[in-house]
Amino acid sequence: MTDTTSTGGQADGSAEEAPPGGIHWRKATLIGLHPQSWHSRTLALDVPGWTGHLPGQHVDLRLTAADGYSAQRSYSLAEPAASSRVAVTVDLLPHGEVSPYLVESMELGDELDVRGPIGGWFVWEPGDPSIGGGPVLLIAGGSGVVPLVTMLRARKRAGDSTPTMLVYSLRGPRDLMYGPELEELSADLSAPGSAEVRLVYTRKIPYGHPRPASHLAIEDIEPPSAWPEPLAVRVYVCGSSGFVDHATRLLHKAGYPDDRIRTERFGPTGADR
Ligand SMILES: Cc1cc2nc3c(=O)[nH]c(=O)nc-3n(C[C@H](O)[C@H](O)[C@H](O)COP(=O)(O)OP(=O)(O)OC[C@H]3O[C@@H](n4cnc5c(N)ncnc54)[C@H](O)[C@@H]3O)c2cc1C
Repeated sequence: MTDTTSTGGQADGSAEEAPPGGIHWRKATLIGLHPQSWHSRTLALDVPGWTGHLPGQHVDLRLTAADGYSAQRSYSLAEPAASSRVAVTVDLLPHGEVSPYLVESMELGDELDVRGPIGGWFVWEPGDPSIGGGPVLLIAGGSGVVPLVTMLRARKRAGDSTPTMLVYSLRGPRDLMYGPELEELSADLSAPGSAEVRLVYTRKIPYGHPRPASHLAIEDIEPPSAWPEPLAVRVYVCGSSGFVDHATRLLHKAGYPDDRIRTERFGPTGADR
């Protein structure tokens, strides 16, 4: 099984993988705030000197208090590269140290430190020759949808028509991130950059949703009928460690070999996402 990150990062909350030597901390200013769900929001930062990134990569953010205490965490890049703008989407963990501050307290103009981009394996660039014509399967648990949406955005921007499906597991309707955007992406599957989207609610479904609430099952990752072949050439799985393990077991049952699966783990083992 190929894997890029640790089970939940280090004690400081950032990914275990050491950033390459050339990556250093840069000062960033908060220039945009956008709510994504009841308990998450996207923060856009201006990072002078930022040299770009790939969909799927992440950054480390460092907050420093007036008394010098600092804490850092890793966050996936939430938008494809565009000049010095860097965006992350943060889901609030009620008793967390850093995420409540990022989601509830930071204000436009505030400063923090950013280091990145980090990671070179959990990435998908449109036109990637190792994927060829696809298809590509994206599987997200909770906030694990963030890097996968960045991949979808990059693909749409490039007009890439690789057959693609996002399977997004979440607890209930109020946890849905990027709802309108995902609806638009899947509205017309003949449009360039469109993608099939399957929402898998694990606890509570919105009115009229055809699938009852339950954990991700093998049927949820069955290929759409329009796919040219039954197995995706590449699968990206992102979420808590427990979710990634569960999804990987299902992929193995469905016949996927390890070399088609790339994973990114956000949280500690067994987190209920
Ligand atoms: C490579 C990478 C990319 C990431 N990208 C994102 C992202 O795009 N958006 C995002 O919201 N988060 C992302 N994370 C998770 C993020 O780094 C933090 O772990 C998260 O925001 C919690 O930080 P905290 O300080 O609020 O909680 P902490 O104070 O670190 O933890 C509080 C409690 O919650 C538990 N916990 C920590 N992280 C998680 C988790 N992810 N799920 C469930 N329980 C957890 C801890 O064990 C602890 O009990 C990513 C993590 C990694 C390693």
